Amino acid sequence: MDSITTRKYVRREDAISRFQKLKDKCESLRDAIYLDGVMAVLDTLPIADVAEVQHGHWIWSPHHCKWECSECGGMEGECESPVCKWCGARMDQKGEGKA
Ligand SMILES: [Zn+2]
Repeated sequence: MDSITTRKYVRREDAISRFQKLKDKCESLRDAIYLDGVMAVLDTLPIADVAEVQHGHWIWSPHHCKWECSECGGMEGECESPVCKWCGARMDQKGEGKA
């Protein structure tokens, strides 16, 4: 399966930095050249236009008698919504709201 929902993304800079750290520690020229090759290939991958997924949870606000998003503070009448309609955070974090 390769649908958009099952894809995982990594930051290119993070991946290259990991390989760079390996290269800094490696002791053989052959390994260093190999790791240069890996980093060069990573550098050629196409860039995906993806936004980092935010995760949050609903917090009960007795003052407002509403649920408050842990990420943006947006208010919601009910806490069953899996996504905050204000900031788009996925409400799948463990929090006091679901206790
Ligand atoms: Zn929110």
